[in-house]
Parts: sequence; structure tokens; C-alpha cells
Amino acid sequence: MATEVKTTCPYCGVGCGVIATVGDGGSVSVKGDPDHPANFGRLCSKGSALAETLDLEDRLLHPEIDGRSVDWDEALDRVAKRFSRTIAEHGPDSVAFYVSGQLLTEDYYVANKLMKGFIGSGNIDTNSRLCMSSSVAGHRRAFGADTVPGCYEDLELADLVVLTGSNLAWCHPVLYQRLVAAKAARPQMRVVVIDPRRTMTADIADLHLAIRPDGDVALFNGLFAHLAASPSVDQAYISAHTSGFAEAFTAACALDAEGLTRATGLGEAELSAFFRLFETTQKVVTCYSQGVNQSVAGTDKVNAIINCHLATGRIGRPGMGPFSLTGQPNAMGGREVGGLANMLAAHMDIEKAGHRDQVRRFWGAPMLPSKPGLKAVDMFRAVADGRIKAIWIMATNPVVSMPDADAVEAALKACPFVVVSDVLKQTDTTRHAHVLLPSLGWGEKDGSVTNSERRISRQRGFLRPPGEARPDWWQLAEVGHRMGFSGAFAYTSPSEIFAEHAGLSGFENDGRRDFDIGAHASIDTAGYDALTPFQWPQPRGTESAATRFFADGGFYHPDGRARFIAAAGEVADRLSEAFPFTLNTGRVRDHWHTMTRTGKSARLSAHIGEPFAEIHPRDAMELGLSPADLVALESPYGAAIVRALITERQARGNLFVPMHWSDQFAAKARIDALVPPITDPVSGQPASKNVAVSARRFAAS
Ligand code: SF4
Repeated sequence: MATEVKTTCPYCGVGCGVIATVGDGGSVSVKGDPDHPANFGRLCSKGSALAETLDLEDRLLHPEIDGRSVDWDEALDRVAKRFSRTIAEHGPDSVAFYVSGQLLTEDYYVANKLMKGFIGSGNIDTNSRLCMSSSVAGHRRAFGADTVPGCYEDLELADLVVLTGSNLAWCHPVLYQRLVAAKAARPQMRVVVIDPRRTMTADIADLHLAIRPDGDVALFNGLFAHLAASPSVDQAYISAHTSGFAEAFTAACALDAEGLTRATGLGEAELSAFFRLFETTQKVVTCYSQGVNQSVAGTDKVNAIINCHLATGRIGRPGMGPFSLTGQPNAMGGREVGGLANMLAAHMDIEKAGHRDQVRRFWGAPMLPSKPGLKAVDMFRAVADGRIKAIWIMATNPVVSMPDADAVEAALKACPFVVVSDVLKQTDTTRHAHVLLPSLGWGEKDGSVTNSERRISRQRGFLRPPGEARPDWWQLAEVGHRMGFSGAFAYTSPSEIFAEHAGLSGFENDGRRDFDIGAHASIDTAGYDALTPFQWPQPRGTESAATRFFADGGFYHPDGRARFIAAAGEVADRLSEAFPFTLNTGRVRDHWHTMTRTGKSARLSAHIGEPFAEIHPRDAMELGLSPADLVALESPYGAAIVRALITERQARGNLFVPMHWSDQFAAKARIDALVPPITDPVSGQPASKNVAVSARRFAAS
């Protein structure tokens, strides 16, 4: 008889509920879970094709040391001994974990506990650094905590939805479907899309602003200055609940009208149409994603957006607020457990002695680092220059996805000890591993994930683990045990880890920490198995969670006030005669990250089968490009060859290239090899947009 299991999609941060049905003969089919509050039964093309990605071809099924199959004991002993020896000889900061928003919260929790609590280093960072750390930093500056104020329903209740740096139609498709349905049902709703490209999302826009790359701070500063001088400014709210308005206003007024037009690339009529719409609409949601976050000014962009909502008091109420869309399925879960090098578990702060003390006592940890560890880009720099001598990479493929990807590959090649936990045997990263550890894939693993609206859902296994594949949390706990930290890692199930995580979130929480799911601290295996999706916070003693934060005007800074942040203006123009094009990297509808899963589905690959560069027809003409010609792109860091896609959707002087393809799928396809390793100074997030490159027609010699 067929069995149905409720689980969660492993792709984007929408976090859709999935029902997987396993037939008698082992066949699997999937459909959307009608009861899941993220998707109400919908699935996008990627989610619908999940069953096509479950075969065991290319799977890593046994642990390996230097390419030799070994048993788990030998592999785990090797990892534990080598990490212990490196720490003994060079100190705890000579080792690192680089983890992933693909990990489940329980995996993330154990990784963070081992590195920060027991190894005693902050050197654990995540590929989520590449997708949403500017939002984290912006939230912390404005609100005093990393808190997304609203929920998906707000997009349906708003009269104006502003999408900036977000191709929602392709990157968060089910949320886009919800928005389209809401717009059809509520004719008064307006949508503004801010993006240098006319993306598919722009097709539903009442106003598309083809902004100059990195013009967002100027745009939202201009909006802020406009709002401050308009009747929409909420002086009572500003006085009662915020501080820093005057400084932020001064910064916002730095550009005159001409400067604003130059910085944004937008005409006065477009600017004033947007400003008027925002000013005169009470229910406004501003959604933002990688186009905002992946910038050297990412955090300032986030705060410039939040400033506009604080100035009008439009936050924390139905249909209002700034809303950060997370890229990965569990980027938010990683934030909850300290997956970022500068955070502790339960949204606590590694630089606060009180928080360190709480975590140390709760874990019974011998030590906790008092300073943040290395963020992703700096971590791989430290691998390259030999400061990090042993690294454990879990569920991610940095040789494709990191900026300056060629340098990352060279660093791993030279690193004395590389451990990779993955489901696949052959990725661009696994080939540099000294020890390979086979992990469970979607459909096999058990745990929880948190989506963009703070909703925690279960991922449940419905397939038998293949070969000797084991959960990531188990691998970490075994290594912790072998490094001599036995008692702290004696987990036998993910439910025990989840309960501990929930217990820590509520531990000595005096109400000044936002993340609290203490209501689940006593959960047992049966309760965990039956857990239905819920939003945090849900402190001990509460039955249901608050849907929105800040409705009462209270924030998490010690004085309870939100902060306006004076957001600095323009990002310097990097173009030159040698590198005259602006490259923006991004995603396509039917592929996910480095295609290790979606690349298995012929149906998904049929949408777009090869890497491409979108280029404006006049730029193409000047380069002598005809449709489907190959185009060679180059930056000071690397080179790629992709197919030219000539389209008026692209702005002149700009190129868009997706980040999915690796050299395994097409020669010289890793576009992140061209991206410089420069980061936002506050968040450490790399600037994967606005990259100066050259372009020429490629002719094979
Ligand atoms: Fe999965 Fe995202 Fe598609 Fe939902 S919208 S089915 S979470 S990829």
C-alpha cells in the first residue's frame, strides 16, 4: 500500500509543504501539501520535479579516504584525529567548518555547537553568507535583532508591493503565484519592480524601474527624503519608537535631483511616480532579495529600505513592512542556531559576554570564542594563505558558488586537510577532499527547516538511506565524541537536538531576544514526528506564535527603539576601458544552485539547457554577436564562455549570467570565477552583482 509523508521542499526559502507518496514498488510521486501555510498545495516547476531527482546515480555511498572506500570508524577517526592534532599544534582558529543553507537546523545546531562550544573557534560560516547576511546585519542595526517583521500574507494584503532586487517569479515562484492571485483579486493593488533587467517578475509590474546596478541606496534615500517632507511621515511614531532620524535624514538629502538621477539611472518622472505611489499608499510591503543583499553596500541598502518603513510607521501591521526573502530552504534556520561566524545559537551575539556565558553554561562548554570567526570570503583566504589548515565543508559546492572561484579551488587544492560531506561523489569541490563522507539526501533525512516568514517545518525521510549514507548531525556528533567531547554530543535522534535547540532559545530569555521556541523544549520523538508548521517566536507557555513583530512599536535595542541608519550613498563605478560591461549574476527558474540535483531532471533542464549571457541588442551588435553565438567574458579574476542571449529585457551595458553551471556541465561555465572577492564591510556578504567584465565574440580556434 502506498504511504504518504508530509515534508518540505529542499529548494528555495518559500519553504513549501510537499506530500511525497511512495508506491508499493518504491516509486515516488510528489504534490503540494494543501495544509501547508506557505503554499496551500501549490508547487513550482522545481518542487514538482523533485521525484525526478531521487535516483542513486553519482551518489556517494561509502566514506572515502584519498579515494579509497573505508568504513565509518576509519573515516571518522581520521577526521577527529587530524582536527585534534591541527588544533593542538596551531590552535583552534587553524580549523574551520564551511556549511550550508541546505543543512537542516539540527545539523547546523550540532556543527555550531562543536566549533564554537567545544573546539573554541568562531570559524564556522555558511554559504548563506552569500545570500542574506546583509539582511541579517540590516535587521540587527535597525531592530536590535535579526527579525523579519512580517509574513507572506502581508504581500497579499498590501496595496503596494515593491520588489527590489528580487526576481520573485523565478526565484520564489510559489510566493509569486500567491502575489499574482492576490493582485487579480484586489484591483487596487499595485506592484513596483526595481531591477536593471526587465525580468519575468516585471511582467506584472505597474511600474518597472530599470535601476542602475547598486543605485538602491540612492533610490531609497531619495524616497526617504521625499517621505520626510510629505504628509505620510509619521512624526508620532518616529518620536515614540525610533531614534537617529535626523542623521539618517541628513544622509538621505546628500544627493540633489540631478545626483539622484545619475546614481539611480532613473528619470525624474519615474522617480516621482514611485515616490508618490509609496507616499500615498498606507499598506506597503517592500520585498528584497539578492539584488539588494549581494553588494558592497548591501547592509546600507537594507537599512535605507527599512528607514522608509520606520519613517511612515508602516511596519509590523497587516500588509505593511520591509520583507527580506531568503534564498535557501534553511537560511533562516542557520541564522537561528549560530551558523554565521559572528553569531551564537538562539540569535545570541558572540561579542556579548552575557550571551556567551548563557550559551556556555547551557551547553556545559569548556570555552566559547569571544570574537567572531572568519566569514566565508575571509575563511577561504585563510585557507589559501595557510592560516586554516583543516576545513570541513558540508552540503555545499564553494568551487562553483564562491566569488573568485578559481582562487577557492586553488586554496582547497593546497589545503593540508579537506573533509567534504555530500550526497554526490563527483562535484567540483569533492574532488579536492582528502576525506569524503556520504550524507543523506532529501527524501532520506529527518529534521526541520525555517522559511523566509520564520515558519519552522519538518523535513521527513520517506526513503531508506542508501549504502552507508548517514545524517550530517550524526557525522558531526561522532567526530565530537572522538575528539573527546562525548557527553555533549550523545544524540540518538534529531528530535533530541531540536528539543535542546528549543531549550536554549528560551534559556534565561528575559524577553529581549527575538528567537524563542521554548514551547517546544520538552518535545519528545512522537511530538517531533507530529510537528506541524509553526512560526517563531513561540516561547514557553504559549500555544500559538505571533505572526508579526513590532506591532506594539517595541524593538530589541536596549532602549526598545528602532534605529534609523544613515545609509551612505553611491557605490563607486568599477567600469573601465578594459572592463566596460556590468555583470550581474543570478538564477533561472528551473535550476537550483550548482545543479547537483536539478541537473538530474531532463524536464527542468529543458527550460534552459546551457549557460547564457543576456545582452542588449545594441551591445550585441557592437560586439558583432548574432543570436546563439558564444561570448567570452573576462574579469581580472577569471573567465567564462557562455551563449549570447540577445534581448531587450536587458539594459544596455549590463549582462546577466546565471550562476548554476559548473565546468562539469559546460567548459568554462563557472561565472563566479569572474566575481571579485570583495564584500560589504558590515555583513561580509560578497558583491555578486555589479562586476566589471569584458565581453567579446568567442570563436573556437
Ligand atoms: Fe520549492 Fe521554492 Fe518552488 Fe516552493 S517555490 S516548490 S519551496 S522551489
